[in-house]
Amino acid sequence: MQKMNPYKIDIGAVYSHRPNQHNTVKLGAFQAQEKELVFDIDMTDYDDVRRCCSSADICSKCWTLMTMAIHIIDRALKEDFGFKHRLWVYSGRRGVHCWVCDESVRKLSSAVRSGIVEYLSLVKGGQDVKKKVHLSEKIHPFVRKSINIIKKYFEDYALVDQDILENKESWDKILALVPETIHEKLQQNFQKHHNSLQRWEYLKKTISSQDNTKNDKCGPWLEWEIMLQYCFPRLDINVSKGINHLLKSPFSVHPKTGRISVPIDVQKVDQFDPFTVPTISSICRELDTISTNEGKRNEAESDIKHRTRDYKKTSLAPYIKVFEQFLENLDKSRKGELLKKSDLQKDF
Ligand SMILES: [Zn+2]
Repeated sequence: MQKMNPYKIDIGAVYSHRPNQHNTVKLGAFQAQEKELVFDIDMTDYDDVRRCCSSADICSKCWTLMTMAIHIIDRALKEDFGFKHRLWVYSGRRGVHCWVCDESVRKLSSAVRSGIVEYLSLVKGGQDVKKKVHLSEKIHPFVRKSINIIKKYFEDYALVDQDILENKESWDKILALVPETIHEKLQQNFQKHHNSLQRWEYLKKTISSQDNTKNDKCGPWLEWEIMLQYCFPRLDINVSKGINHLLKSPFSVHPKTGRISVPIDVQKVDQFDPFTVPTISSICRELDTISTNEGKRNEAESDIKHRTRDYKKTSLAPYIKVFEQFLENLDKSRKGELLKKSDLQKDF
């Protein structure tokens, strides 16, 4: 790998033949057979609901969107689907990836993958669609649990940091999501209130006193629909449903930012800060310091064996630990499965 010095490393499916044989086998015989279920969440897909940055830019104010996305999707993958081996990775720039690596998951067809992404998608419609979330009267447990997660962040994230009801321009976007019959009332009263927190309280009070009409649901549904439109994860469907899609390898270097694509510890996702993730130059500097210090101590000892472990002495170490823990669990469950199989065979 070092000799080839690749510009980037993408990971795709396991194929029926070796990659270099793909032109030599019979047409159609070269088939993707297994692949992790992957998710790609990109901040650019939230441009209509974040007010701090746009396109490739991110900041600490909008990063909460990724924190909520990880909590919501990870909970569902674990509790609703029973998937055990999930690795979350920072992409190095403006988003996150998730790799689900359970053996049974790797063999899923595209149709089943599409079904899973469909289950996990609530925000629908492109740029021209204003209202992107429509809840049915009976709330699915997945939706309810997702709302409960969003509720923990909504005030700080949406009302304070994003200030989504700050001025007429911003609240007009929210008015577009509620029935026209209450627009005027809300407009007038929003002007009387001083900040997003007060205006949100007023909005909640108004819609809960409103009767449901045939086409417009009011009450808590409407409140939840707005919260979901502003906070619910937006998945890149095509990345997840295909079995041929490629995704950047964990620990690769993002070409634009120089940041390392590092695994995220889900237990500590609220503390994860993309701006403190090591870059290729910061790692090189650290390695230089380590080698000069060690060179002073004992020049003869700096053999190859020593150097291979050097990365563990850099600020990459905690991220590598997360990755190793993930691999260890995967290995344990693989060995467990093999043992079960051999026990079953003995029974006969
Ligand atoms: Zn931002």
